Amino acid sequence: MSRTVLYEPFDAGVRRTIVIEDGTITAIGRGLARPGDRVINCTDKWITPALLDIHVHLREPGQEHKEDIETGCRAAIAGGIGALCCMPNTDPLPHEPATVERILRRAHEVGRGVKVMPVGAAVRGKGSSQLSDYAALKDAGAVMISDDGFTIEDETLLTEAFQQCAEVGLPFTGHFELPGDDGLPNEPIAVERACRIAKETGARVHIAHVSTAEGAGIIMEARTDGAPVTWEICPHHFILTAEDVDRLGTLGKVAPRLKTRADADALLTRVIDGDVDALASDHAPHAEPEKAKPFDEAPPGMLGMGCMMSVSHKAIWDRVADPKAWHVARSLWTDGPWSVLGMEGPRIEIGAEARLAIFEFGDAKVRPEWIHSRSSNCPYLDMAVRAKPFMTVLGPRAWLRDSLGRLYPIESEGGWS
Ligand SMILES: [Zn+2]
Repeated sequence: MSRTVLYEPFDAGVRRTIVIEDGTITAIGRGLARPGDRVINCTDKWITPALLDIHVHLREPGQEHKEDIETGCRAAIAGGIGALCCMPNTDPLPHEPATVERILRRAHEVGRGVKVMPVGAAVRGKGSSQLSDYAALKDAGAVMISDDGFTIEDETLLTEAFQQCAEVGLPFTGHFELPGDDGLPNEPIAVERACRIAKETGARVHIAHVSTAEGAGIIMEARTDGAPVTWEICPHHFILTAEDVDRLGTLGKVAPRLKTRADADALLTRVIDGDVDALASDHAPHAEPEKAKPFDEAPPGMLGMGCMMSVSHKAIWDRVADPKAWHVARSLWTDGPWSVLGMEGPRIEIGAEARLAIFEFGDAKVRPEWIHSRSSNCPYLDMAVRAKPFMTVLGPRAWLRDSLGRLYPIESEGGWS
């Protein structure tokens, strides 16, 4: 049995060699390499527990021309992501336990060790006013309930959904935007309402992809006021602004839409100050002909998981110019999202399953080869970054990148050569 030795990466600033045997961490220390070991030189690279992306659209079942569970898991692995929550706007919606079970079964078959955690649909079909059975969805393996992709506008129905979440002990994660006076989707009024109902019902509510300074401010106040609310920010809402839409065209179309420079700056401050609980990609693949439509007809959404740590780390670095940037990004892609779920993430310790990611520091540009999705609607290509995915280990499987950023397995079982 061969040992894989990750030689001397920095773990939270300290050099530690990590020995992996049969997918388990069996030793941590300095040196440790022996003749016959497969030694991966990680000096000057940075190690982290594999990342968790709590907001991903895998598109299966029903829209496999955009992405499926296998290609989505490949995109995750490419970005150092070892676990993800998949949103329920599939066709059919996962409003029945059988659909949740089908996603889990498929992930087990083709996910290469990525922990796929389905999010159950809040209602029985888009536009339905009938709630699903959340206890049954939880039993089947759903880790949250959501209306993402089919926002519940009716306040009574939303309140009942929150009540049921409180009863069964699942967080509700929502897309909180309501029609505003100007006809555009309005985040602050929806976020204010969600925080109020969360407090009334006691439901744990996780506010997805917050895009406005005002929305963030409302959440922080509601938390001080005792509302059981957590929240996430997507990198595109602090890296890109409405002005980038001219350059990006439909690649810059996303929901919630890109906002002002002031919003983006305020959200980045929330990230750096530790006010937000998690970063999340809202990885939303669309086929090229769909994104080639005129702006008003093209579907909203961007990807991808393959560059999420790189682009978020770069934005934070540009503001703080300090190694703290890595620690902020690492914590918001690992401990933060796990605590939103109320779960423990992987640990780098002896006896634990090896689930980790290694990043290489140095000037690089995001390349199409990094993305590994079935779709290519990524707005970050050619963006300069400082941290590049180098290796992903998920138990007995491990992958490295070639010079272009393509994945290749170092264990025959890994797949995707
Ligand atoms: Zn959404």
